[in-house]
Formats: sequence, C-alpha cells, structure tokens
Amino acid sequence: MLLTIDDLTVNYGYISALRGISIDIKENEVVTLIGGNGAGKSTTLMSISRLVDKEKGIIKFNGKDISNMKPADIVALGIAHVPEGRNIFPKLSVEENLLMGSVVCKNLSKQELNRRLEEQYQLFPKLKERRKQAGGTLSGGEQQMLAISRGLMSDPKLIMLDEPSLGLAPIIIEEIFELIVKLKKTGTKTILLIEQNAMMALGIADRGYVLQNGEIVLTGKGLELLKNEDVKKAYLGE
Ligand code: ATP
Repeated sequence: MLLTIDDLTVNYGYISALRGISIDIKENEVVTLIGGNGAGKSTTLMSISRLVDKEKGIIKFNGKDISNMKPADIVALGIAHVPEGRNIFPKLSVEENLLMGSVVCKNLSKQELNRRLEEQYQLFPKLKERRKQAGGTLSGGEQQMLAISRGLMSDPKLIMLDEPSLGLAPIIIEEIFELIVKLKKTGTKTILLIEQNAMMALGIADRGYVLQNGEIVLTGKGLELLKNEDVKKAYLGE
C-alpha cells in the first residue's frame, strides 16, 4: 500500500466531520471519494496533508507513519495537495507559481528545477505560452491546470485533487479528466480524486469510496459503483 488511513476521526469543535474512516490506496491507482456536501471529503484530504488536526487515527505513507508530521515535510515526502478553489497566487507569474510548488523540496539544483519546469511545460503547453503572465489573469480552466501543475512540481508519488472540475466548462472538464488518465499512464503517479462529477470520476477511477456524514458507507471498483443502484440514486442523478 502507498497510503493507508486507519480509523481517522476529525471534529471541528462540536461538529463531527469524520467518524473513524479507513482508506487504502495502492501505488498507481486512481481512487475517488464521492459524497454529498459536507460528507467529509475535503477534511479527509486536509487530514492527510495535516492541514487539520485529527482526534484519532493513523495515516501511513509508504509504511511510514505521517500522522504527526508537518505539512511541508509531507509534501517533501511525496504527497501533493491541490486544494478546492485552486489557491494560486494571483500576482505572481505562472512560472513563479510553479516554482512555489517545489519550495519544500530542499537542495534542488537549478538543473533539476529547470527539468521539472520543462516537464510541466510539455504537459501543459499553454502554461509555457503564458509563463510570464500573472496567475490571476488566467481563465478558470487555466488556473486549475496551473494549480495541478504546481502540485506536480514537488514530483509527488501521490497527488490529491479536490474538486478539480468545479465551476469549469464541460470541454475543460474533459481536459482535466484526460490529464488524470495521462498521469496514471506515466506509471509513477497515484491519484486521490474528490469530484462532484461522480459519474466521470467513477468512470476513470480504479476504486471509489462513498462518504456520508463522515463515514464510509460503500467502497468498490469504480465501474461497480457506477452500476450500484444506491449510488445511482444518490449521486448520479438517476
Ligand atoms: P463539500 O463538497 O461541500 O466541500 P466535503 O465532503 O468536502 O463537502 P468537508 O468540507 O470535509 O465536506 O466538511 C465536513 C463537515 O465538517 C461539514 O459538516 C462541514 O460543515 C464541517 N466543516 C468543515 N470545515 C469546517 C470548519 N473549518 N469549521 C467547522 N466545521 C467545518
């Protein structure tokens, strides 16, 4: 297993956000978390990144307990988190935004930084064209690509994407899903995906977990969940 979450419980004051969830992710899998508003999806990612404190539970990455590590050390270890809402730096250029993604990787040579930038520009040619432009002037779709690309700049083994298609046009959403499939095909990336677009997410995911009120109520292969009657009713608009 690349990532294991065991019995994770998170509270926000009196609000119980996660109630003892357990999730396993194998290397090179695409795993999706689906669930309604407030089910606990973002909290799960934030717990892995240590952006929220947990009440209880153990999170291991490559067998190493990361439950109490600092957020920056977790990124340096190989977990990138692309948050909901993108959080790019609007005044910094595209290239500066990208470079921010590798800040936590200490002692990178100039050569390695350039190699990583070039890799990103091959994956996202539009970002290369716009590398001097301020991040805040990009379109919504381009900003989402920038946020993902910035995440990739830390050369993660696991990349966690929180609602990457939120608020984007269907054609851009297609592009984002194609990118996820492409990242999987490199054979070096593992992806944990949160999506409001459950149909598309389950269509590309190896496996999925359904979260409801902070609990996992169902898990299975992506295509199996797509056919599940309860999932269809609750999340696929049928
Ligand atoms: P959405 O799709 O709406 O973002 P989600 O599945 O990602 O939902 P979370 O954002 O993880 O859900 O929220 C889980 C629960 O925790 C919800 O009840 C939410 O209201 C609550 N919550 C989240 N963040 C906070 C916070 N900072 N303070 C208090 N309660 C919070």
